[in-house]
Amino acid sequence: MKQQLDQSSEMTMDIFGKISGHEQVVFCNDPSTGLQAIIAIHNTTLGPALGGTRMYPYANLDEALDDVLRLSEGMTYKCAAADIDFGGAKGVIIGDPKTDKSPALFRAYGQFVDSLNGRFFTGTDMGTTMEDFVQASKETPFINGIPVEFGGGGDSSVPTAQGVIYSLKATAEYLYGDETLSGKTYAIQGLGKVGFKVAEQLLEMGAHLVVTDINQDAIAAIQAKALAIQGNVAIVESEEIYGVDADIFIPCAMGGILNDETIEKLKVRAVVGSANNQLKSDLHAKLLHEKGILYAPDYIVNAGGLIQVADELYGANKARVLMKTKAIYQSILDIYKQSELDAITTLEAANRKCQQRLEEQRGRNNFYSRQKSPKWTFK
Ligand code: NAD
Repeated sequence: MKQQLDQSSEMTMDIFGKISGHEQVVFCNDPSTGLQAIIAIHNTTLGPALGGTRMYPYANLDEALDDVLRLSEGMTYKCAAADIDFGGAKGVIIGDPKTDKSPALFRAYGQFVDSLNGRFFTGTDMGTTMEDFVQASKETPFINGIPVEFGGGGDSSVPTAQGVIYSLKATAEYLYGDETLSGKTYAIQGLGKVGFKVAEQLLEMGAHLVVTDINQDAIAAIQAKALAIQGNVAIVESEEIYGVDADIFIPCAMGGILNDETIEKLKVRAVVGSANNQLKSDLHAKLLHEKGILYAPDYIVNAGGLIQVADELYGANKARVLMKTKAIYQSILDIYKQSELDAITTLEAANRKCQQRLEEQRGRNNFYSRQKSPKWTFK
């Protein structure tokens, strides 16, 4: 017995060391549905914590815990940057999304979310769908990102793409003293939900595009669009996109694509895209800076979707989402100017801006509890 107690005490010390930067970590276990999940609330200085829930067959508990801690911290910065009154959190469900899902599992997860009484709002992420969260929403009101028919805001890639366009305009304004996007050449990686919408809008504005996608249907669709409006689009193989002679590179596919190898190849003046975690490491922001390539921090550029998800909690208003997404233009411009003024990377300038917002609010709010805000209205 004694030995057991010692062991558990050591483990507790270990866990507290690991989560020292977080407010709260909740382990959820429901044997009847097979649910094993972790919810990590990183910081609620700005308001209730917001973050999607992903489902993934993690190899072990450590891997799941590391993932949820890292992702929830990132959400604090994303929310601070998007100027929304939410903190950062994330949920992970341990399991294979192809074989381990059931409506009952998501209802059980909804009950755990509900037990946090409004400190945590969640919705879809990698491995989970809107339908999964329709199930969870039967147990709790603290769910977002569900279909319009269920009171959600619908497809978040629309405001995300709009945020990319505003970021491109801010970049053009900073580089060329004119925010017009027509007449320039853009290299686009990925023509999925976001990339295709960005490509379409650029074509309609009269831009020249060089694009790549591993999905031939997406390539055929953009070619058809170009044909219909006599637009200008060239197709390249996946790996060729980095060396394209263009004004701006727009990554809209996967993360980690700004690394030693690819930065060496880049011939563009700026990188502005929606893909999450574009930099392989923070050092690559420095490498781009030294090469004179302007980098628009991804978590600022792609905040449109998050702005929409957060707005759902006030009743989902498309005009308000668009208005808030427009603010990305000024954020990006401010970050470029600050980076130049302080001779720091644009990533450092963005991170500082977020830290400043958190500092200003700290003291007014140590951590969010729903009782503190009786005026908060839930849909
Ligand atoms: P998506 O899955 O709809 O599109 C991704 C596209 O990239 C697909 O067409 C895919 O075929 C293509 N692709 C994959 N690997 C490729 C490769 N090696 N070379 C070229 N193309 C490749 O995803 P999405 O919703 O458009 O999101 C794009 C990126 O933006 C992702 O990194 C996502 O995390 C990020 N993001 C999306 C949103 C949103 O609202 N959808 C919000 C924030 C961030």
